[in-house]
Amino acid sequence: MNISENIQKYKEELPQHVTLVAVSKTKPIGDVQEAYEAGQRIFGENKVQEMEAKWKELPKDIKWHMIGHVQRNKVKYMAPFVSLIEAVDSPRLLKEINKQAKNNERTIECLLQIKIAEEDSKFGMSEADAKELLTSEAFKNYKNILVVGLMGMATFTEDEAQIRNEFKKLKRIYDDFSKTQKNFSVVSMGMSGDYKIAVEEGSTMIRVGSAIFGERNYG
Ligand SMILES: *Cc1c(COP(=O)(O)O)cnc(C)c1O
Repeated sequence: MNISENIQKYKEELPQHVTLVAVSKTKPIGDVQEAYEAGQRIFGENKVQEMEAKWKELPKDIKWHMIGHVQRNKVKYMAPFVSLIEAVDSPRLLKEINKQAKNNERTIECLLQIKIAEEDSKFGMSEADAKELLTSEAFKNYKNILVVGLMGMATFTEDEAQIRNEFKKLKRIYDDFSKTQKNFSVVSMGMSGDYKIAVEEGSTMIRVGSAIFGERNYG
């Protein structure tokens, strides 16, 4: 893999309104450094400890996105530095993020993860649960978080029509919520295999790992 060439390719290819998150999970510091030197500043990780270790080693102008499911007891480790928590999938997690952000005198931006895929294994909230959360009394009182949009993962399938439909669904929910959520500006959808469809369907943030850094050594 030529990491800097890959970064360059995405920079040229992506429309201005689409942000590239380079997903560096499981990859060594040197790979992140190479992407950084090619101009990439936003990286995604799915494990808090791994993200924290990389944050400590690497330049401090990197924006770290947590893209994986987070256990509440881990939030405190990333609260001092995380830039965007993309996979908020429960009211209890959001409450904990607000608490830890407050402890660090920060405001942490978050996305709600919506379950759009068929598979049971994918985390995420239903549209109804997300709506309930966004209109709850508790939510109004969270002063140290900013929910700026939604994130979703399509089913892992060859069926492009299905993937497209799932992205359409997320965009529809995003547009609907945006009418009342004035902080909304991000719809994070699309990965190495399906980002083109996601961009066509209105994605503003794609999360690309293997197409930049090569295959990972686990499933
Ligand atoms: C791993 C991961 C990605 C990147 O996947 P690739 O197929 O390697 O691009 C994107 N989003 C999430 C939530 C992930 O866990």
